[in-house]
Amino acid sequence: MSVGVVEMDRLSLTPKTEGGTATNRRCVKCPEAGILSGLDPKKAVYCRPCFMQMVMHKFRSSIGRQRLFKDGESRKTVVIFDGTPAAAFLLGMIRSGLAADAHHRLQLDPVVVAVVTKLDRQEIDAVIKRIDTIKSYLQCDWHIVHLAAVLSDNLQDLSSSSSEICPGVDQLDRLIELFSSIRSESGRSEMKVRLRTALLYRMTETMGVSKMMTSDTADRLAKLSLSSLALGRGAQMSEDTAVVDKRHPKVAVIRPLKELSDKEVGIFNRFEQLDELTVIVGDPDRASPAVQTITDSFVTHLQAGFHSTLTTVLSSASKVKTATTSRIRCAFCFSSSDDRFCLACRGILDEVGEPSLLPSSLQ
Ligand SMILES: [Zn+2]
Ligand SMILES: [Zn+2]
Repeated sequence: MSVGVVEMDRLSLTPKTEGGTATNRRCVKCPEAGILSGLDPKKAVYCRPCFMQMVMHKFRSSIGRQRLFKDGESRKTVVIFDGTPAAAFLLGMIRSGLAADAHHRLQLDPVVVAVVTKLDRQEIDAVIKRIDTIKSYLQCDWHIVHLAAVLSDNLQDLSSSSSEICPGVDQLDRLIELFSSIRSESGRSEMKVRLRTALLYRMTETMGVSKMMTSDTADRLAKLSLSSLALGRGAQMSEDTAVVDKRHPKVAVIRPLKELSDKEVGIFNRFEQLDELTVIVGDPDRASPAVQTITDSFVTHLQAGFHSTLTTVLSSASKVKTATTSRIRCAFCFSSSDDRFCLACRGILDEVGEPSLLPSSLQ
């Protein structure tokens, strides 16, 4: 989460290229000088307007190609706002998409859901205040909810205009206790991710909406697929990284930023002043030996030297198919499973020292 912000400072707007400076290269789309690059500066450089066009096009075409909002399909979509630069970018794309002329208008009716995962009450209040100021950027329904809401059996009133400012905060102590009863740092981190997804699925379903949109970038998805592999979720890699992930029976996950890198998003945000829409909604994973933080820095380092790392990891991930023919879905992550829980979810659930703290559906 904070990675994107830190990355901004390291972004160089002039790509370094081996054998010659970038200034004598031409934009691949027009005769202007190429000063900006995407993932691989050796391949293509762009002038500023063409770069912005290229980034917007990647977003629009990933949605268009899937024909997600064809006639007759409900356009209502839960947009997940996690406060990252990528999430700010997603808000920006949706706002400009909705403001476009009839022919180019984005066929989407958004409702934004922001999940706060911080565990300190004062910090939670500060995040809520911050999100309240960000809300006005995109005029639609916004729901701020705390991760701890996943522990409550009654999600019904979350989607209505409940008087509660941030539902779930009443379960905060239970969530803290649950996390501290988990033995390993990797297990805790994995539990947080899976509970958050489970909460978002439940909220979306409760609202009667069939699509939710994330701001996962190529960087995020490549890191996720490698840590999934290390955590025994290899079979789920292609679903985890698909532009449209239909493993849940009622809610499809859409990832329109899959072909965009953090670097492209960072440059775009800087020019469009979208960074003011960022907020840190959760605590960083402790740097101690969690598989997730190790794979994160591994991918970041590889990508710095080998510019095709992200695309290679993602294209490999998309080819991994599960061998199971079981039609049962894991009750936690909704992947194909031979049992009530898949092996990987069974593993994290077994790490919980105090199972009675889990949501009743997972006990
Ligand atoms: Zn150009
Ligand atoms: Zn599972």
